[in-house]
Amino acid sequence: MQKRKRLPSNKPADARSRKSITACIRCGTCCKKGGPSFHHADKRLIEEGIIHSRWLYTIRKGELAYDNVRERLLPVDSDIIKLKGQNDSWTCIFFDESQRACRIYAHRPMECKALQCWDTRRLEKIYAKHRLTRADLISEIEGLWGLVEDHQRRCDYDTIQKLVKALDRPQKKKTRKQLIEIIQYDSEIRKLVVAKAGLNADMLDFLFGRPLTLTIQNFGVRVNPSGEKISLMPPIRRSPAC
Ligand code: SF4
Repeated sequence: MQKRKRLPSNKPADARSRKSITACIRCGTCCKKGGPSFHHADKRLIEEGIIHSRWLYTIRKGELAYDNVRERLLPVDSDIIKLKGQNDSWTCIFFDESQRACRIYAHRPMECKALQCWDTRRLEKIYAKHRLTRADLISEIEGLWGLVEDHQRRCDYDTIQKLVKALDRPQKKKTRKQLIEIIQYDSEIRKLVVAKAGLNADMLDFLFGRPLTLTIQNFGVRVNPSGEKISLMPPIRRSPAC
C-alpha cells in the first residue's frame, strides 16, 4: 500500500490485467487477503507497542496453514506470528476500507513493504526467512512462557496429526479419547488464564495459537463442542488441494 491519496477506482487488482500494473493502485486486494507474517526485523514494532500483541495470532509449529505463495495448505515448520483480520474476515486489522489505506503505513511490517501484487518475487525471497516466534517475544516472561511451552508440548500438532491418521485403525476408541483430551486441555487452559491469571482474552490466539476446535478442521476432523463436553464428528471430505 502507498500513502493516503484518493484514487478514482477501487476495482480489485484481480479483476484487472495484472500485467498492466507496475505500481500499487491501492485496490486493497493484498490487505484483504490477510495480514502479514512477522520477521525479526519487525520485532521492534511489537516491543515498542506500535503493534500490540492482542492484534496478533500465532500459527503454531506443525499446524496446517494456507501458504499464499504455494497456494495450498501446508504444515508450518516453526511459529508464524500474523496480524489478525477484521471481524472474522481475512482483511487486515489495520486496513482502512473507507480510505483504502493502511492505518500504520509508516510502521507497516516488512512483508507489506516487500509485497507487490504484480510481481511477488521480492516477497518470495523473504517470506520464509527469519520469522519471528513467540519465544523471540515472550521467553523471558517467567511463568507465562512456562504455560506456553507446556501447552505447545501437550497440544503438539505432530502428535495430533498422528492421532488423526490413526482414527480409522484398530484402537480407534483410545485414539479418539486421546484426541479429545488434547482438545479439551486446549480449551480449558484458555479459560483458566483469563479467569485466574486475569489475562486479556484477546491475547489467547497469540499465546496459544488459534483454538484447536477450529484448526483441527484442517486435518479433516470436526469437533462438536456441546457445553463442556467435546465430541468428534465424522471427518470432512477434503479437497485435493488440501
Ligand atoms: S499492515 Fe497495512 S499494508 Fe500491511 S496488510 Fe495490514 S493494512 Fe495492508
